Amino acid sequence: MTPYDGSSSQGPRALVDGFGRTVTYLRLSVTDRCDLRCVYCMAEHMTFLPKAEVLSLEELDRVASAFVALGTRKLRITGGEPLMRKGVMGLFENLSRHLATGALDELTLTTNGTRLAEFAQPLAALGVTRINVSLDTLKPDLFRTLTRGGDLAKVVGGIDAAQAAGLKVKLNAVALKDNNAAEIPELIRWAHRRGVDVTLIETMPMGEVEVDRTDEFISLGEVRRTLESFWTLTDLPLSTGGPARYVEVAETGGRLGFITPLSHNFCESCNRVRLTCTGTLHTCLGREDACDLRALLRAGASDAELIAAIRGAVDAKPMGHDFHIERAARPAVARHMSTTGG
Ligand code: SAM
Ligand code: SF4
Repeated sequence: MTPYDGSSSQGPRALVDGFGRTVTYLRLSVTDRCDLRCVYCMAEHMTFLPKAEVLSLEELDRVASAFVALGTRKLRITGGEPLMRKGVMGLFENLSRHLATGALDELTLTTNGTRLAEFAQPLAALGVTRINVSLDTLKPDLFRTLTRGGDLAKVVGGIDAAQAAGLKVKLNAVALKDNNAAEIPELIRWAHRRGVDVTLIETMPMGEVEVDRTDEFISLGEVRRTLESFWTLTDLPLSTGGPARYVEVAETGGRLGFITPLSHNFCESCNRVRLTCTGTLHTCLGREDACDLRALLRAGASDAELIAAIRGAVDAKPMGHDFHIERAARPAVARHMSTTGG
């Protein structure tokens, strides 16, 4: 099958949901596997999906390209760890044709950084300009504990390689009360010194993990108040559609974002949907709504049928999520972040 070129016989009608929000951003999970086992993300002994359940690279390209035809301007490849997916660079190469035609504004990825030393240069060569790297601590021992065995030096080396390749790096850090909260100012200083913005994330109740997330939860409102006791934070204008609220830190000159799904509702401006590596479309991170595009693909659906299914799912996009930390000892949704794609 030739790769779907993103053109649509149905015309350029935008993907608008039942609340009038236009969907322009797809997060595409390409694997549920990972070389790390972050405590808030995965159970220690995960059972990964059989290969047959995961979309092939061709299927991933076809769905992503259908979204591009429907007006998706930004595509983020994620996982699991996307750089662990065999052949993922071929997928980037194919998807980069939408950058070349101007149909897509941005092709990017979220990665744990362990394989960036190898992949940063090829990614940059394919038109990727910005990437998110997840890093919660600069202490090697704590990193090993939080990731259950990870090597901090590999991630820092990966960030070095990404910057050397000209990629703009943003750091994502999950705030954990008893683990890294005290270290957050140092993490921000370290990143800002390198010209790297930071986004802090509250833990979200997704999937069964061994730890009790209620214990680890720290509100980013509290983190912000601590930072403001010694730094000057100036609110920056709202970014379009995203859940992060940004400030500038006068003392470091860098930007800092806060993603607060539990303490701040950002759903009214949500412009994004997620496709799992098994081809299930979730139009809300915090709801169980799901549309099985894999079944359609494997039943030989035409592009028009695929597009109709995507439109139907987006039309029913829920108004908002249902995360509450007081209920977070039990997951709000059963699926892990690594399956949905963070
Ligand atoms: N493996 C890649 C990485 O770590 O960047 C991409 C996938 S990971 C699931 C995407 C993001 O989700 C990471 O920044 C991770 O910290 C975040 N994440 C995972 N589980 C989470 C949870 N329960 N609450 C909040 N963020 C979570
Ligand atoms: Fe892997 Fe990313 Fe989940 Fe950590 S957060 S276990 S790196 S998928």
